[in-house]
Amino acid sequence: MFESLQDRLGSILNGLTGRGALSEADVSAALREVRRALLEADVALDVVRSFTEKVREKAVGAEILKSIKPGQMVVKIVHDELVDMLGSEGVTIDLNAPAPVVIMMVGLQGSGKTTTTGKIANRMKTRDKKKVLMASLDTRRPAAQEQLRQLGVQTGVDTLPIIAGQSPTDIAARAVQAAKLGGHDIVILDTAGRTHIDEPLMIEMAEIKRKSNPHEILLVADALTGQDAVNLARNFDERVGITGLVLTRMDGDGRGGAALSMRAVTGKPIKLIGVGEKMGELEEFHPRRVADRILGMGDIISLVEKAAENIDAEKAAAMAAKMAKGKFDLNDLADQLRQMQKMGGMGGIMGLMPGMAGMKDKMASAGLDDKLFGRQIAIISSMTKAERANPDMLKHSRKKRIAAGSGTDAADINKLLKMHRQMADMMKMMGGKGKGGMMKQMMG
Ligand code: GDP
Ligand code: MG
Repeated sequence: MFESLQDRLGSILNGLTGRGALSEADVSAALREVRRALLEADVALDVVRSFTEKVREKAVGAEILKSIKPGQMVVKIVHDELVDMLGSEGVTIDLNAPAPVVIMMVGLQGSGKTTTTGKIANRMKTRDKKKVLMASLDTRRPAAQEQLRQLGVQTGVDTLPIIAGQSPTDIAARAVQAAKLGGHDIVILDTAGRTHIDEPLMIEMAEIKRKSNPHEILLVADALTGQDAVNLARNFDERVGITGLVLTRMDGDGRGGAALSMRAVTGKPIKLIGVGEKMGELEEFHPRRVADRILGMGDIISLVEKAAENIDAEKAAAMAAKMAKGKFDLNDLADQLRQMQKMGGMGGIMGLMPGMAGMKDKMASAGLDDKLFGRQIAIISSMTKAERANPDMLKHSRKKRIAAGSGTDAADINKLLKMHRQMADMMKMMGGKGKGGMMKQMMG
């Protein structure tokens, strides 16, 4: 436990020596893991293949962020690329068209079209103060129109009166007409699905589209759709032309690989996600969250991102040059301490490492908590410029002044100076291997 803590933090500190660029071997090894994660998340095979190739091209030769391991660097690149591919945040339903704006819901049977129709209508009514009309075009299942009518009653949203014997296209035309007459802002057409894609379904959807001229055509798909996702999305997009995707059952155990597959083949935005059966259970799509979920590596990614956020590559390069000359003064130490503090301190760093969370309490009880960084930074801040550059000049009277200025005592200052000496020595010797000097000192 102790060893590995030292190793891990040691490697964060030693990262300052720089590790250069990602090699072909680093990338291949990490991509094997990524590939497995994507397949486990049910991303379609073709998409996995093209995605990993794209990442490979980007990653080989990329500069490794100081402070992290090559494998983690690849994961970071993969994650960024995944977020990129999943699309931008907050692309939502576009209502920018003359009223009534027609929204057509398409998808397989059981994918959640009717439920999502109710959810969207409910949201537009309550949040956007819109007057909405819902119409079921599902003449295939006797209960389907009644299901939507009940959602209308439940949400207080108008539904088109049911007239037996009409075709889906007739209902579509009647719905648009009724919305015009009724002064509705939006009309949502809930179509019938099939258990699988077939020609009659595609023809029916295309006809409805022609009749109702929808501004949005949303493909509703179950987030658990596996390898079929590509086919599904491609067919609906080519034959009907979709404007966006809605992923349902994101509340389930699935990791949502379908999001990536469908987005990859259509290039259409994921506009909303369903996270339950209730009318309120509709959310915006957050690519980062879904990317984390697909990779199943959220914690490691946050660690990598914290490092990326906080470590200033230039500063690190300047530091490396200083170290090479054997110069590491108290200004540099303060920089290091601030760096660690920014990363959430010891607790923050360890909380992110698997199995390390428990160490935080132990260290806190040994006085090694985040306050220590703050105290040490305060001590250094109370020094003059000359003192920081040349700690040897710190004799008794100066220490007394610094202690008073930083609210610490002489023992704290001595401890800090000792730590600095050890680190400076270590860095002088270090060919990239020195490890743990700072930690050992801090552990007392
Ligand atoms: P449709 O055939 O495409 O109209 O599908 P429905 O809207 O009738 O939904 C089929 C089933 O999936 C129903 O039992 C819904 O309650 C359920 N469902 C729909 N969306 C979600 C969701 O986001 N999460 C969960 N857990 N269930 C959902
Ligand atoms: Mg339905």
